[in-house]
Amino acid sequence: MNDTVIPADAAPDYRNTVFLPRTAFPMKGDLPKREPATLAGWEKRDLWDSVRRSSAGRTPFVLHDGPPYANGNLHLGHALNKVLKDAINRAHQMAGFDAHFIPGWDCHGLPIEWKIEEEYRKSGRNKDEVPVLQFRAECRAYAEKWLAVQRDEFIRLGVMGDWANRYATMDFASEAAIAGEIGRFLMNGALYRGLRPVMWSPVEKTALAEAEVEYHDHKSVTIWVRFPLVSGGPAEIAGATIVIWTTTPWTMPGNRAIAYGPDIDYLLLEVEAAGEGSRARAGERVMVAEALLAPFLAETGITGHRVLGSFKGEDLAGTIAAHPLRGQGYDYDVPLLPAEYVTTEAGTGFVHTAPSHGEDDFILGRAHGLEVPETVGDDGTYNPWVPLFAGLHVFKAAEPVCAALEAAGGLLHRNVLVHSYPHSWRSKAPLIFRATPQWFIRMDGPEDIRGHALQAIAETRFIPEQGRNRIASMVAARPDWCVSRQRAWGVPIPIFVDRRTGEPLRDPAVMERVVTLFKAEGADAWYARPAGDFLGNAYDPANYEQVRDIIDVWFESGSTHAFVLEARGMPWPADLYLEGSDQHRGWFHSSLLEAVGTRGRAPFKAVLTHGFLVDEQGRKMSKSLGNGVEPQDVIAKLGADILRLWVMSSDARDDLSIGPEILRQQGELYRRLRNTLRWILGSLDGFSEAEVLPLAELPELERWVLHRLSELDAQLRVAVESHDWNGVYPAIHHFCSQDLSAFYFDIRKDALYCDRPDSLRRRGARTVLDQLHRCLTTWLAPVLVFTAEEAWAARFGGETSVHEQQFPAIPPDWRDDALAEKWTRVRSIRREVTTHLEAMRQAGEIGSSLQAEVTLSFPDGEDQLLSKEDWADNLIVSSVVVYPADLMVHAERAEGEKCARCWRVLDEVKRNSAKLCMRCTDAIDSGLVGQPAAPGE
Ligand SMILES: [Zn+2]
Repeated sequence: MNDTVIPADAAPDYRNTVFLPRTAFPMKGDLPKREPATLAGWEKRDLWDSVRRSSAGRTPFVLHDGPPYANGNLHLGHALNKVLKDAINRAHQMAGFDAHFIPGWDCHGLPIEWKIEEEYRKSGRNKDEVPVLQFRAECRAYAEKWLAVQRDEFIRLGVMGDWANRYATMDFASEAAIAGEIGRFLMNGALYRGLRPVMWSPVEKTALAEAEVEYHDHKSVTIWVRFPLVSGGPAEIAGATIVIWTTTPWTMPGNRAIAYGPDIDYLLLEVEAAGEGSRARAGERVMVAEALLAPFLAETGITGHRVLGSFKGEDLAGTIAAHPLRGQGYDYDVPLLPAEYVTTEAGTGFVHTAPSHGEDDFILGRAHGLEVPETVGDDGTYNPWVPLFAGLHVFKAAEPVCAALEAAGGLLHRNVLVHSYPHSWRSKAPLIFRATPQWFIRMDGPEDIRGHALQAIAETRFIPEQGRNRIASMVAARPDWCVSRQRAWGVPIPIFVDRRTGEPLRDPAVMERVVTLFKAEGADAWYARPAGDFLGNAYDPANYEQVRDIIDVWFESGSTHAFVLEARGMPWPADLYLEGSDQHRGWFHSSLLEAVGTRGRAPFKAVLTHGFLVDEQGRKMSKSLGNGVEPQDVIAKLGADILRLWVMSSDARDDLSIGPEILRQQGELYRRLRNTLRWILGSLDGFSEAEVLPLAELPELERWVLHRLSELDAQLRVAVESHDWNGVYPAIHHFCSQDLSAFYFDIRKDALYCDRPDSLRRRGARTVLDQLHRCLTTWLAPVLVFTAEEAWAARFGGETSVHEQQFPAIPPDWRDDALAEKWTRVRSIRREVTTHLEAMRQAGEIGSSLQAEVTLSFPDGEDQLLSKEDWADNLIVSSVVVYPADLMVHAERAEGEKCARCWRVLDEVKRNSAKLCMRCTDAIDSGLVGQPAAPGE
């Protein structure tokens, strides 16, 4: 766009007679400098409070904040998540809802404990010698520090919320509420203590939740082991051995059974020959699954064999084997048991079963009354009662176990395998399945939490829809929820177990005292006070064991709906939960189970998930690649609005790419939006309501712009309703750059600059520019929170804030589909003419398009599309001749003379001594514009 109109030589200076855009809204954003000042202004006028007060009585909209962990500076993932939440909240607020937002933090748990322990290790202190209350106080101080840092960083990002009343899981009221929620599960019977295998980190000495587990490649020793048959089964197999295959030799001391598939075909083989180095012995008889025979022979080096018999798995019912280390303390029977989960994908078709070390194994063992031995201690070493291996660490046990098996004749073959193996997300150390006494919430008891959770999932809206199946399949398959952790920084499981019966004490009065004391003193009370303070007079503390485990932090964050929404009298369930798609396994999941188990339904009506961050090549961000982008850097260099624009311009359903080039592009997008706002503001200079024309008197071009506004408004309202914002802000940007800057503004520049102020054309344009300003500043406000405020204040002053406004109510009669169709045709003809004129310009035949005269011929009917004057306006040429024929475009250099004021080239100028066209003469004569100056003045 060329904004300058300089009159031709020698003529009077008409600069004072034209309305060039004038605004205090600067071209350059200078966001890093300007944004903090805007924030300070909001703070000063208490914008949050005034928005809340003005929303009283409206339909509430509650997006419940999933708490980030109060540990370290914000990273880009936090920024992405919170900007999305903020934009959605603000859009609801401006669409007529009361969108109250309470940001929160997750404060307890292993990562902070780990940090404090790390500091201890550095200074040579021993954690076990620090009193628990002191340790907890240090964890609390650490969380407090980072909570404050993150809060300031979120505010700097422009995130609006009730920061003064934020929630934290470590607030005393939260700790009390979390204890109370555990109390609900205790009273309704779903909470139980049981010995069962849990994912255990020997390094951190605690059980881990599913969401705390990562899978990485791990190199394991794999072994093929003979189990001699001792009794039962078909007569032919007597004296043979069953061969199992396992990737965890350290679980052999925990073996208590062998699982087979009842429908799988098994073979009884006699080894006839074996290759060099093979441990197979000619003449020995072994059993394996038929489907796995070939890989089995290849692995074990058996070069010759004879099939002696074939059996279905079910034929093996009642067969008993011996542990290969029988005679060395492993003297129990090892029954063969049927299990549906046995496959012939790998191994031998017989599955080594250690009920302490696997979920399937545990369930199978429980069904058949097998012992669940405690073979491994907290630190990952075998317990003192484990024969041969006591005191050994399980991760160093592969060789000793192999050696013992070899010596006993049990080892048929060994190898190594790189496979996906569970690791702690914190310490990155490998995990083990280990049987320990833990507290569980039952999924399938009389409470039927699983069934109710699946029902709740069916009743929830998922955006995108795939989320439904993801979480449903996780809930359908998950084991009971292990809610206990053997750590110190958290909310204790406030339960007493009767030493005489092993039963937990289920007394609401005791739970009541726990909640009251926690509320007053925090959960520290559990450690600081004697048991009698909680038990009261009805129970003798000597008869009760006070549980010292703490609650899984996922249970804590899963209870936020209770202590943030319910306890504060906010609407429950929340309208929306919004997190990364990994939270199907994490926060969505735990919140769902917690609420279903205590209140019978999900705490949310809808769940929105977004993708993760990748760099411009689609790679994950990592320290080692050095491709990370820190939100603090982007804000300092470009401004928060650029980061926010990036979030809302991306398709958040997928992974979002970011890097220097993408940020540069966002800077370009931003500049176009800013220039659009600036041009509107400049062209509205001195605008008054008296200029406004009614819809019926507006030119078609203006009505077309209003039609486009009605379309964008509809798109925005659908997004508010559906929570699906994909494409909305790209559409607004496209509107600004293509429909406005490159088309509408370009055409109307002439009328706005040169028409007399009371011309209907100019008034019509300003009528529409007024609406454009109101629509664009409010529509952009949820995203460009700072820039929209600046563009609002540039017109209306600082008395009101754009964030106190509503999206303008678009009158239904702005929508005009027939007109839109017509103008699609006009624009396509315009593109053709523009191409033509561009070619003339390239050839030096014309300078600006105003020096051209265009001849358009149209097929029947279309010659009435626009008048020739309107065509001249729309094509930005001096004159247009229209006649009926097939569509044809012709342009040539216009005859006539250039108007010294508006530069149109017209015949009429020749006849005017002041070298003006009739329109410009009229404008000057009207006395409504400035007066020309003599040349050279
Ligand atoms: Zn003129």
